[in-house]
Amino acid sequence: MLDLAIIGGGPAGLSAGMYATRGGLKNVVMFEKGLPGGQITSSSEIENYPGSPQILSGLDFMASWPEQCMRFGLKHAMDEVSRVSKKADGSFELSLLGGKVENAKSVIIATGSTPKKANFEGEVEFFGKGVSTCATCDGFFYKNKEVIALGGGDTALEEALYLSHICSKVYLVHRRDSFRASPSTIEKVKNNPKIELVLNVTVKKAYGDKMGLNGLIVVDKEGKERDIAVPGVFVFVGMNVNNAILKQEDGSFLCDMDDNGNVIVDLNMKTSIAGLFAAGDIRIHASKQVVCAAGDGATAGIQALEYVNH
Ligand code: FAD
Ligand code: NAP
Repeated sequence: MLDLAIIGGGPAGLSAGMYATRGGLKNVVMFEKGLPGGQITSSSEIENYPGSPQILSGLDFMASWPEQCMRFGLKHAMDEVSRVSKKADGSFELSLLGGKVENAKSVIIATGSTPKKANFEGEVEFFGKGVSTCATCDGFFYKNKEVIALGGGDTALEEALYLSHICSKVYLVHRRDSFRASPSTIEKVKNNPKIELVLNVTVKKAYGDKMGLNGLIVVDKEGKERDIAVPGVFVFVGMNVNNAILKQEDGSFLCDMDDNGNVIVDLNMKTSIAGLFAAGDIRIHASKQVVCAAGDGATAGIQALEYVNH
């Protein structure tokens, strides 16, 4: 039986593991289906983590985290967890993809979030053939070509700026004329001569052929259509929380959730179930920042230590 199972190896899961093991928990496994690091590793840059003033790619920024966080005995199992449930004796059962089962005295859910679909015609058909959600991964394919970035939040604007360094032109397509992104980022976008703002439009469809995407048709408020012929469309329209592992056989969630599927926690990252904690983007009112996820992870790790020891 594990003392603690941590599910997710992003900033929250890694920090939780470091605090729990450094505090003395011996048998702690972080279940991370991929390489540790989390979603920030797909970001082209991060500049708002205190103590790290230089602008780094997400991948470079996270590179040193696993070594530091695993120094005190945290183990990484490269497994995907499909369900967490509570047993009659108060411990937890983790079902892993492939059929294996693990048991743990306590669990920290740190599964984060993943990009949403915008739900326009052709988005799924051309996904991976011109439609992407990762500028760092796919931006280079469009070197000196024109692309679209869709959305009006921090991700869309930051990634539009990143793409503007590679591509000949970036159309920033947004359904309103004001943005959710931070003012300094909006300013940079507005002052970038390679970015054209295409505002107050909705996406009608993506079109293309067997070779891939050829463009996007957008429609303005008067119903006038515009055809933007590009080989690449980057969709940045928000995130979904990865809460599926908490779904039980009867369809209910293991612990209390809000209407948007975020795990409800108190200030100690405790859920409504004793011994079950949640940290990072998955939890209610998350600021969805690396520094906040790391802080949550530390809190959850300390609380799990307390729970197991007492
Ligand atoms: P995540 O980083 O999402 O990590 C969750 C991990 O859990 C993933 O590695 C995933 O593989 C794993 N996982 C999920 N489900 C399972 C399962 N069932 N079994 C096993 N493993 C599982 N924040 C900033 O502070 N500054 C920025 O500049 C910034 N830029 C960003 C740019 C982009 C493009 C994006 C997408 C996000 C950005 N963010 C930024 C937000 C930041 O990345 C997140 O807030 C942070 O990574 C959340 O950390 P987390 O540990 O909660 O979750
Ligand atoms: P977000 O803030 O939720 O923004 C999503 C954007 O997509 C919004 O502008 C929204 O439009 C638009 N949108 C949503 N659904 C759409 C659809 N179906 N079709 C077209 N447009 C659609 O998401 P995000 O930018 O991914 O950011 C997520 C979180 O991570 C935020 O908290 C953000 O601050 C954080 N983050 C921070 C940084 C940083 O600190 N540097 C970087 C990246 C992300 P409306 O505005 O009209 O709703």
